[in-house]
Amino acid sequence: MNETMSSAPIHAPTLTTDAPGLDPSDWAAFTEVAHRAVDDMASHLAGIGNKPAWQPIPPSVRAALHQPVPRVGVGDAAAYDSFTQHVLPYPGGNLHPRFWGWVMGTGVPSAMVAEFLAAGLNPNCGGLEQSPGLVEAQVLSWMSELLLDDANASGVLVSSASVANLVALTTALHARAGFDIRGEGLQGAPYKLACYGSIETHSWIKRTCSVLGLGESAFRAIPSDADFRINIQALRESIRSDRAKGVHPFCVIGTAGTVNTGATDDLTALADLCREENLWFHVDGAFGALARLSPTLKPMLAGIERADSLAFDLHKWGYLPYGIAAVLIRDAGAHLSPFTTTPSYLQTMSRGPMTTGVTYGDRGLDLSRGFLALKAWFTLTSHGVDAIARNIEGNVAQAQYLGSRVSAQQDLELMAPVALNLVNFRFAPVVNGAALDELQLDAINVEILQRIQEQGIAVPSSTRVHGKFAIRVAITNHRTRFADMDILVNAVQRMGAEILAG
Ligand SMILES: *Cc1c(COP(=O)(O)O)cnc(C)c1O
Repeated sequence: MNETMSSAPIHAPTLTTDAPGLDPSDWAAFTEVAHRAVDDMASHLAGIGNKPAWQPIPPSVRAALHQPVPRVGVGDAAAYDSFTQHVLPYPGGNLHPRFWGWVMGTGVPSAMVAEFLAAGLNPNCGGLEQSPGLVEAQVLSWMSELLLDDANASGVLVSSASVANLVALTTALHARAGFDIRGEGLQGAPYKLACYGSIETHSWIKRTCSVLGLGESAFRAIPSDADFRINIQALRESIRSDRAKGVHPFCVIGTAGTVNTGATDDLTALADLCREENLWFHVDGAFGALARLSPTLKPMLAGIERADSLAFDLHKWGYLPYGIAAVLIRDAGAHLSPFTTTPSYLQTMSRGPMTTGVTYGDRGLDLSRGFLALKAWFTLTSHGVDAIARNIEGNVAQAQYLGSRVSAQQDLELMAPVALNLVNFRFAPVVNGAALDELQLDAINVEILQRIQEQGIAVPSSTRVHGKFAIRVAITNHRTRFADMDILVNAVQRMGAEILAG
């Protein structure tokens, strides 16, 4: 013993009182609150289009949600009243038919039922011989068949495409590092490692390279062409030049549906190149991969079925509530390799609940896992894949409609080709026979965007296309209709004219 050791007792003090548990003392009162929640949420959703797309949070609400620790509870009914008063009216707005900011999903009411059931049943989906594991296997094999033409890929459901991409890149790194990375990690690396994707690759790649200890510089951002697709020749040269310098390339990332413009890389060319170069071929299909559910749109994603791994969200274009995404990995052994552990307390048994062992808890970062699969299984079973596909097609049609409306207006400018469900445009009027300069255009469009959001008319977001500020509309919204696009076009023109008039 020395004096610096903790003075905290090793054993808990003796306690003698039994606990009451946390179930309701009155189940009828519980179901009454639960029924109110169902009724209120159904009417909230049914009337969502008549509410503002977004509204600022009043100071009183900020104060109500900044309270001391509640040592003594108020009960379900009072907690629910506080929710309806302070939380329900001030969300980000992504339920609304005219919310097209960033790439956000709307959710589908059927999945709310599943979320309730999943929380009620509350299984730990890390493993065990249990029906929820079969549900997850079913969802993964459906998605694998639909997106990779192969019902047997390994996979796991995770909370976001960022995590799905991280799991895939970790797998790629372990499979193709060329040395024992599991034991020594990058500290045993005989050479530097590199991975490749276009400059339009989503920012998950930087975070992943940082977290994996590769460093952001391990990612080679290859230029894209006029259609925002990766320049294959430049990619080829970058790989050749790295090899000549003794760098070890391990993975090429193709994007199906880039976040800026909706472009999809030439996935067939990337698959060919990866085969020639013996590189892992990963596809980030966060939202774009879901277009493959539509027979009409499927050809746009040709080559995706040759990916070694595919990451995609179900909370964007799958219309499921947050947070659910999936990673599919062709080589099941490669998938398990970085993640499997066999501690004594997780030993597989020959009979009983532990016969299947830790299945999903060995395929990613989470060991204990919630029942994510139920909302996917329930929604797909209830609506059918064709209904999801019809809405995806509808969103593409709406993007094309908006693109054509923009192109037809003198004072609006389309900033990038409409690739999938994404439209970038700006207000660009001719004033006294002359165009405004770029700085003026940026400023006026920033102001238009903020007014439209603030007034709750619609929520597009923004990006820069070739350095120019663009109003960006990304439609992963099953509540949107063509008429909503007309409302947006009219609002942009009206606000633009107002700002010009001073
Ligand atoms: C949204 C997105 C991601 C990240 O997905 P999250 O679910 O937000 O983590 C990755 N790639 C692309 C192309 C995206 O659009």
